[in-house]
Amino acid sequence: MTSDTQQQKRELLGLTQDELREFMGELGEKPYRARQLFQAIHRRRIASFDRITDLPKTLRRILDQHAVITFTEIENVFLSSDGTRRFLLKLGDGSEVESVFMPEQRRDTICISSQVGCPLACDFCMTGIIGLKRNMTAGEMVSQVVIVLNQVYGEVVELPKRTNIVMMGMGEPLLNYDEVMKAVRVMAEPEGLAIAPRRVTLSTAGIVPRIYDLAKEEVRPRLAISLTASNDELRNKLFPINRKYPLSELIEACRKYPLGDRERLTFEYVMLDGVNDSDRQARELVRLLSSVRAKVNLIPHNPAPELPYGSSPMDRITGFQSILTAAGLPSFIRRPRGQDISAACGQLAARHQAAP
Ligand code: SAH
Repeated sequence: MTSDTQQQKRELLGLTQDELREFMGELGEKPYRARQLFQAIHRRRIASFDRITDLPKTLRRILDQHAVITFTEIENVFLSSDGTRRFLLKLGDGSEVESVFMPEQRRDTICISSQVGCPLACDFCMTGIIGLKRNMTAGEMVSQVVIVLNQVYGEVVELPKRTNIVMMGMGEPLLNYDEVMKAVRVMAEPEGLAIAPRRVTLSTAGIVPRIYDLAKEEVRPRLAISLTASNDELRNKLFPINRKYPLSELIEACRKYPLGDRERLTFEYVMLDGVNDSDRQARELVRLLSSVRAKVNLIPHNPAPELPYGSSPMDRITGFQSILTAAGLPSFIRRPRGQDISAACGQLAARHQAAP
């Protein structure tokens, strides 16, 4: 086969079932074939047409000539003592990203990346040190989920637990809005992965115009805001993006964000020793969020030699929390996962070894 025809092959991973139906129409095939194919890719998690044996052989040969299903290559897997697994992945162009698998008793959570690197350069996050290489495609996002599930459970095997997705890996999802939303739609399809949007959480450092766009979507993932500072002076230092979208604008967008009946908007607050963890800052945080139906996740800072911060000690975190509790602001202290393999929040930098 010449490289010319190779280039014309259509990537099927990342297509919605409607798009797949259209493509099968172009090949002169019946719509129900698209459904079979969609199920094979997402539910049975098969990447080779050859093994989709419920399709006729002739069709499989035609598909081989015109299409590909690319499951991202796994370069390495690191296993943490807490059961977390970090996957170092190599994309088609050689770029490296990461996904993290976190098993829990009744569900699994997969943390996926949305960009190769990240342009936001937050002062306390490793991914910011890399900078942005490029946006990822919807297919590359869906692929992370599929290959992680295959690694953990095996191809074709039915999943024993529900899967939750957090878009908290590398990248700022709201700076790759269209592809991220497409991935959310593809993952939600009942005949495929069937991961409902309410089981997908998108975390943002605060791209205000895109929060308004998200508010208008009919099907929305859950939203979490990386806040980590209770005033502009500190937030400007930790999050350069705060100079463009200061707290007043961010909180206003959050206040207007539509929520379900008992839903609260999640604010992530990374606890940085001696930086944002005083009683005074806890009270400031309460005031800042007073107009929003909010809950706060207190995240111990995950260290890295390149980062100039340490985590607040646990008694400071509980002290900080008690002020939020007294003011009626619900909060949770998050247990870091996969710290020993550089898999925890803010540690994703495509490291080739378990830890620095
Ligand atoms: N760009 C998005 C998603 C990636 S960061 C965002 O900013 O939300 C995902 C989460 O990891 C955020 O809550 C962020 O505040 C947190 N995080 C970043 N660096 C961290 C670190 N070193 N320790 C703990 N959490 C960190």
